[in-house]
Amino acid sequence: MDVTCNPLYQTGKHESIFDLDLCNHLLYTYFLLMITGNNLIGYSHSAKGNKSFCRLLHINGQTTTNSFYEASIDEVNEAVTKASTAFHRYRLLSGNQKADFLQKIAEAIDASKDELISIAMQETNLPEARLKGEVQRTINQAKLFAQLLKEGSWVTAIIDTAVPDRTPLPKPDIRQWQIAIGVVGVFGASNFPFAFSVAGGDTISALAAGCPVVYKAHPGHPATSEKVGVLINQAAKESGLPDGVFSLLQGEGHETGVALVQHSLIKAIAFTGSLAGGKALFDIAAKRKEPIPVYAEMGSVNPVFILPDMLASKAIELADKLAPSNLLAAGQFCTNPGIIVQQQSKDSETFVSKFGEHIKNACGECMLTGNIYNGYNQGIEKLSSNKDVALMATGQHSKMENAATPHMFKTSAQSFLEQHDLMEEVFGPSSLHVMAQSKNEIMAVAENLSGQLTVSVWATEKDLEEFGDLIKILELKAGRIIYNTVPTGVEVTQAMVHGGPYPATTDSKTTSVGTNAIYRFTRAVCYQGSPQKFLPDELKNENPLGIWRMVNGEHTKDVIGK
Ligand code: NAP
Repeated sequence: MDVTCNPLYQTGKHESIFDLDLCNHLLYTYFLLMITGNNLIGYSHSAKGNKSFCRLLHINGQTTTNSFYEASIDEVNEAVTKASTAFHRYRLLSGNQKADFLQKIAEAIDASKDELISIAMQETNLPEARLKGEVQRTINQAKLFAQLLKEGSWVTAIIDTAVPDRTPLPKPDIRQWQIAIGVVGVFGASNFPFAFSVAGGDTISALAAGCPVVYKAHPGHPATSEKVGVLINQAAKESGLPDGVFSLLQGEGHETGVALVQHSLIKAIAFTGSLAGGKALFDIAAKRKEPIPVYAEMGSVNPVFILPDMLASKAIELADKLAPSNLLAAGQFCTNPGIIVQQQSKDSETFVSKFGEHIKNACGECMLTGNIYNGYNQGIEKLSSNKDVALMATGQHSKMENAATPHMFKTSAQSFLEQHDLMEEVFGPSSLHVMAQSKNEIMAVAENLSGQLTVSVWATEKDLEEFGDLIKILELKAGRIIYNTVPTGVEVTQAMVHGGPYPATTDSKTTSVGTNAIYRFTRAVCYQGSPQKFLPDELKNENPLGIWRMVNGEHTKDVIGK
């Protein structure tokens, strides 16, 4: 038995396991009072593995730990097999039935939000206000997908009717729509315990598409994950769905996640996290006997370009807006503005100096996990030891565990262009200010950017005219171009693109936020010459669901042949 801390788990099926040598009596007493997290294999709770891991909890300024069982390889197999069986029924449910399920998930989370927020605060140390907003966003996201399903046109029905008398050959009747691809494995993010986690955008868009989900919980918030997982299954049961539509596997160390990606019945992976993690899972998926798509949303430094005319009129105001965005939630946002590019001038000095004041006044805040804290400090050390990078300001050190001290660095555009690793993400409250000597250097920095989730341009109309090609360069680099506002915050809407070229993601054609996220988990199929009776309602001549369709090249809701 491989035990890193004292595990205690009691169900009808399992005996309690005590190993007092490995943990002190106080913790042991605490464990007796704790409900430990475990795995959800469809509707059944399960803890068959013999490995456990601990999670640090922050309660009223004190820290303690809670322990969890890691899913065994057998449990991974059980979950995926159940999901695969459920798929054949689940995918054929109507849009209204699936919408009802998503609506019930939203309602269940809403009804339990106080408890959920309290657990998440203990596990992540994120503040209540931030978590409240995130839970609401998660609820709204599930409702948005429910609306999408109810409306129904998302299936992208395309109908080319037959032309029997076409010469030299008759044209056949061909009708296309989108169908679910199969069981999806989802890896949740550490930094969003709700919105990019168990009932987050990946899970909800996969369920909306008609795909059962086997979810690998992030070890940073296992109890929060388990609680949300139970709510999803409660909603599934109430909706009369087959057992296995949703499963949740706990794990720390890569074994559970690797087994999930390698399982032959998994048909796609969605992931949010580090570049190293996302790329590793992508490579594993590519080496499978049947390679599958991996939709990984990974690192981004979200460059901000501040153009001269804007800087001349608003240097202080811009620093007052951008520094708090950089510091928000200890900088643990995938849209954190990590690189700020501007042309060296008196105004840029004013901006840098004001930005520095914000950094100096900021206190270190606790990061989500010890690993993330260590990763931040390694990034800071690397920048600090670079002779072409100057440390401009540091924030106030906090003695709290895993508290990241804010940092601000400066370098020249020339050094930035010469050293590609200056573009690496330092996940946390750090920024690198890149000072260009000319417009050409700004354009060169833009040309040399790697793929990003966002790029922001702070500019007046005069700037935009003067830097005419900048936007055309930047639209090849990022999923979202933002004008004159901070990049932190991702609206969940129909039009949102939260994606971008590699290394921001492993598939630049998709988004992980917004309703188009559904298309990661569907594929097109067409029927040639099908009798009307055997077509899905979405493709029948009568258009019984009244959805928008492309019929012979025209968008219409019309009945065909009237
Ligand atoms: P992570 O280390 O990539 O882990 C994310 C998930 O993937 C976890 O469930 C992890 O589980 C699993 N995983 C990671 N590498 C794996 C591998 N090689 N094989 C199998 N499973 C693997 O991300 P994190 O813990 O959230 O944060 C670490 C770093 O990621 C941060 O310091 C930051 O740089 C970056 N990050 C980026 C974003 C973003 O949105 N861009 C968000 C959060 C974090 P196991 O630990 O059980 O293997």
